Amino acid sequence: MSITTNIASLQAELAPIAVTLVAVSKTKPNEEIMEAYEAGQRIFGENMVQELVDKHEQLPKDIEWHLIGHLQTNKVKYIAPFVKMIHSIDSLKVLKEINKHAERNKRVIDCLLQIHIADEDTKFGLDHAELIELLRDEELAELKNIRICGLMGIATNSPNPKIVKEEFYELKMLFDGVKASYFRKDDAFSILSMGMSADYKLAVEQGSNMVRLGSTVFGKRVTKHFKLKDDNNKES
Ligand SMILES: *Cc1c(COP(=O)(O)O)cnc(C)c1O
Repeated sequence: MSITTNIASLQAELAPIAVTLVAVSKTKPNEEIMEAYEAGQRIFGENMVQELVDKHEQLPKDIEWHLIGHLQTNKVKYIAPFVKMIHSIDSLKVLKEINKHAERNKRVIDCLLQIHIADEDTKFGLDHAELIELLRDEELAELKNIRICGLMGIATNSPNPKIVKEEFYELKMLFDGVKASYFRKDDAFSILSMGMSADYKLAVEQGSNMVRLGSTVFGKRVTKHFKLKDDNNKES
């Protein structure tokens, strides 16, 4: 399977059910991104700020870049001039920073709040109580250069579909509840970003309307190779 055919079959699967495809291009070279671009893909996701900045500089300017990885406040300024959507927001502090830099760039940046749904400590995100606290914070309404467009979640990396399905179900319920309670009059709050290559079909069944697919589009990523002590020993 080529990237071109992968994009075509994913678009044929997802477009009719109004699910947006974010092609996750982290670690992938520009030539492969261009192959997806030539196949019509315009939304790409990256998880590292520097890589996102470099690719934005080098690739066509009509690409919509999404940041899907954790964002430190001191790095917001690098992506604020161009980033279309940030999926991984988990504090008011980072929202305020995004708002500040968006204002300087005379832009409005679309934001998703990342919710911790996985049964793993390592994944970032807000729990329910933290989400409600953030939504009730009076300072949030004053941030005119960000737009809260929905929620994002990463399910447990589990071979058990029952666990993954329940996590997605829970996030969909939270999304509906939050929309009804806090965004009733705000059409922008409409995106539920859930589902990766291993679990996107389950996510879509549970109500996702934005999936973030890397390996399904580009093939497996080569995992980073760390130098082992033994390698050093061999050299000496
Ligand atoms: C890498 C990544 C993806 C895509 O992963 P695949 O399993 O390759 O589809 C999706 N979301 C986030 C947050 C990621 O970091």
